[in-house]
Amino acid sequence: MTPMTETDPTAGLPAPADAPDIDATAEADPLEGVSDEARERALRVGLDEYELEDEDLALLGGAGGEDGAVGPSAPLPVLAVVGRPNVGKSTLVNRILGRREAVVEDRPGVTRDRVSYPAEWAGRNFVLVDTGGWEVDVAGIEARVAEQAEVAISLADAVLFVVDATVGPTSTDERVVRLLRKSGKPVVLCANKVDGPRSETDAATLWSLGLGEPYAVSALHGRGTGDLLDAAMKALPTVAAHGTAIPDGPRRVALVGRPNVGKSSLLNKVLGSERVVVDSVAGTTRDPVDEIVELKGRPWVFVDTAGIRRRVHQTSGADFYASLRTQAAIEKAEVAVVLLDASAPLTEQDTRVIQQVIDAGRALVVAYNKWDLMDEDRRPYLEREFERDLVQIQWAPRINFSAKTGWHTDRLVPALDKSLESWDTRIPTGRLNAFLGELVAGHPHPLRGGKQPRILFATQASTRPPRFVIFATGFLEAGYRRYIERRLRETFGFEGSPISISVRVREKRKR
Ligand code: GDP
Ligand code: GDP
Repeated sequence: MTPMTETDPTAGLPAPADAPDIDATAEADPLEGVSDEARERALRVGLDEYELEDEDLALLGGAGGEDGAVGPSAPLPVLAVVGRPNVGKSTLVNRILGRREAVVEDRPGVTRDRVSYPAEWAGRNFVLVDTGGWEVDVAGIEARVAEQAEVAISLADAVLFVVDATVGPTSTDERVVRLLRKSGKPVVLCANKVDGPRSETDAATLWSLGLGEPYAVSALHGRGTGDLLDAAMKALPTVAAHGTAIPDGPRRVALVGRPNVGKSSLLNKVLGSERVVVDSVAGTTRDPVDEIVELKGRPWVFVDTAGIRRRVHQTSGADFYASLRTQAAIEKAEVAVVLLDASAPLTEQDTRVIQQVIDAGRALVVAYNKWDLMDEDRRPYLEREFERDLVQIQWAPRINFSAKTGWHTDRLVPALDKSLESWDTRIPTGRLNAFLGELVAGHPHPLRGGKQPRILFATQASTRPPRFVIFATGFLEAGYRRYIERRLRETFGFEGSPISISVRVREKRKR
């Protein structure tokens, strides 16, 4: 299987001052002076001389009218892989993702920075949540597994429950089964470690769990995983239950950040007495963990406020819940407010959360809390830290506030509006190509081996976040793509939204 998108991994990432060094011996632009629309038509005709694939034609067809841009596809359905430690969850996840080296860490307690991954099977895209590889302390193992499974199950649209067939069902497995039953979510039972036909009978004993047919699988060797995934695709709804986007419904906001940055304090301050009744707002899904609040005269959905309020005790594995919750909240939201503690140095966990937001393609607001604790000595240090360590998100609106005193909390809504507006922005195709024409004229792609890739045409494939596709005659270097991104931002703004640029290299049609 292949990763779901061809998005350039460097897009949305640091765009420092690394414009390619170019001597501006630009050719005159033959389309200079023509209208944006005429330029678009001319370039489009020129594109017909190139070998285009079906997906290119679909994209070009879709971008024909200015309303043709597709919004964000509805959130993808989530398949969570749960089970006891060592049953082979990580191995299975690696197999499903088609990772070349199926890295299974021998070392217990490795913390990973992601818990969910885009995946694809039989032409369907979904999100795979991996609960393997997290530290579980042996003493409280059963409680931990159940707690962990409960969080994962609550976030999932369907569950792949992995059991070690060579061990058979344990009491912990049975406990998870009870959670699964209670959740009512579809479950596919994976009887793992069936490495050969002789152990098929091991799998059969798992009928006793009452979850239907156990799929005999060897995650290690790949045996049986196709049938397992087919069954999982049957069980997985096509539309995610969580946070289904409803056009023109209230916007969905996630408050995220490491423990103790002040998420629940902000929630209490901003949401305070303003809670509105869920039923009174049209166009909202009723997810009991969310809250709908009126701010500045408009309803907003704050996702997973239950998760913010329910404090997870600081035991081993707490990292896991925090990460999983954060990931899920980001997926459900359109815009994420990443809270940082102004009174303490930036941590790796902070930057990880920011990266999660960017990776998920959500709009972003950076919010420095606890500003009341800020003393004048720390201030210049913080500004340096912000510029140096958060260089990749200088495009995000930033607010400094205090959840405790309420100072500047009124700046939240304007910042949310700004980021969401950028997230929704669509650049008309004619305008985009005119912009690129000027950009290339001023700063052509550097020559490499006497060759120079030419940009043929570009279109914005989607909004939320803005994604651009450039057709070119050759590979565009990362530095040049970053240069394009920077100029796009300078020209069109996009304050508060990640943007992505992908390049499709197409060859001239042979006659
Ligand atoms: P997790 O804790 O559930 O994520 O389990 P891991 O994926 O880390 O696997 C635990 C151990 O079981 C590792 O040593 C794997 O190599 C091994 N394992 C996983 N799947 C299989 C399998 O299908 N057959 C065999 N024989 N071993 C497996
Ligand atoms: P959460 O874990 O992100 O939800 O953080 P909390 O909202 O529970 O806050 C953690 C601690 O920081 C609590 O003791 C709060 O009282 C304190 N706190 C939160 N916001 C502020 C603030 O603006 N100023 C100060 N001085 N303390 C704050």
